[in-house]
Amino acid sequence: MVHPVFANLPTTIFEEMSGLARELGAINLGQGFPDDPGPLDIRQRAADLVLNGYNQYPPMAGLPELREAVAGHYGRTQGLDLDWKTEVTITSGATEALAATFLALIEPGDEVVVFQPVYDAYLPLIRRAGGIPRLVRLEPPHWRFDRAMLEAAFTDKTRLVVLNNPLNPAGTVASAQDLALLAEVCVAHDVIAICDEVWEQVVFDGLVHTPLMVLPGMRERTVKIGSAGKMFGLTGWKVGFLIAAPALSHALARAHQFLTFTTPPNLQGAVAYGLDNPGPWFSAMPADLQRSRDRLAEGLRREGFSVLPSSGTYFINIDLPASRILESDRAFCLRAVKEAGVATIPVSALYEDTPVTTILRLCFAKRDATLDAGIERLAQARRLSQAAGG
Ligand code: PMP
Ligand code: GLN
Repeated sequence: MVHPVFANLPTTIFEEMSGLARELGAINLGQGFPDDPGPLDIRQRAADLVLNGYNQYPPMAGLPELREAVAGHYGRTQGLDLDWKTEVTITSGATEALAATFLALIEPGDEVVVFQPVYDAYLPLIRRAGGIPRLVRLEPPHWRFDRAMLEAAFTDKTRLVVLNNPLNPAGTVASAQDLALLAEVCVAHDVIAICDEVWEQVVFDGLVHTPLMVLPGMRERTVKIGSAGKMFGLTGWKVGFLIAAPALSHALARAHQFLTFTTPPNLQGAVAYGLDNPGPWFSAMPADLQRSRDRLAEGLRREGFSVLPSSGTYFINIDLPASRILESDRAFCLRAVKEAGVATIPVSALYEDTPVTTILRLCFAKRDATLDAGIERLAQARRLSQAAGG
């Protein structure tokens, strides 16, 4: 018999929408990946390492040169003082880092506080590890939590809280005040924070990412997760980083060794090169994306859409009712891909209970021509929806 826990899961919304886009030849503003192929020098380095480098198993915790480069990068950009030998583990993407973390740190029956909208992988992995999710529901337009919401979710069985900051799909960056509140609650309840910070380099308007790990009391109780895929716009590479104090790192590496054991050495070497030689990348990349964000937002507003602010990630959100679209996010999303040729993500798919059904997520990490065609097609979908009375 097939075990029902995973067999009954639906296809994740990102694959569903990318699949429809491929099948229908639609423009894909759904799943988050750039049109651009990524920095040439880093790709060149990876190619050289495939041809001339070492292609056998690298060390389990990652290539030393990459672990050092990760520690150096976080020292320069986020003021973290990391010992690369005991506090940095390389994984096959942030997805594996998340799986390793949940497998290593959850005992059956432990409660895990999770915010909705929730990244697709968290809940199935937490449950498979025996954890019991306690959901905190965030809502547009601000998507913020407060003390009462945290106090309602944290109990004496809470062992972990998962924070995604910057937040996919909302495009928000947690304020200093909200981070301080969460840190205070973690310390008071003796809880470990799992910080999915894959979007840390993709922040706009002069904002600076603050890792929860630097807040008082958090250094020893935080697992920080990063992804080279997002840092360098190479989403298919799946090179992730697990950062934690030595005792936690030891447990995480034990889980990693039986999940993937290692990550392709040539990609690791190329990411190390990128982190050690960033040039202007970490200011130029967000500046370019900010321009794309503004182009998409302005074009959509011209067509009568109401767009929520985006301070980080590749994503911006449309408020459907405020755009005078009355059908649900999923209904409008299916209409847009099937009748107008543009794929998007209905944010309701990222809620497990009491979904917000009024928000559509769009990826703006695209060339101007793609964005302009996307705007036209979304405007067409809006006209069709209104003509149908939706
Ligand atoms: N967490 C979040 C919030 C993400 O948006 C993503 C990918 N977009 C991941 C994890 C997975 O990252 P990776 O591709 O490195 O596995
Ligand atoms: N993180 C990507 C997004 O939010 C999707 C990654 C995936 O498909 N697993 O669009």
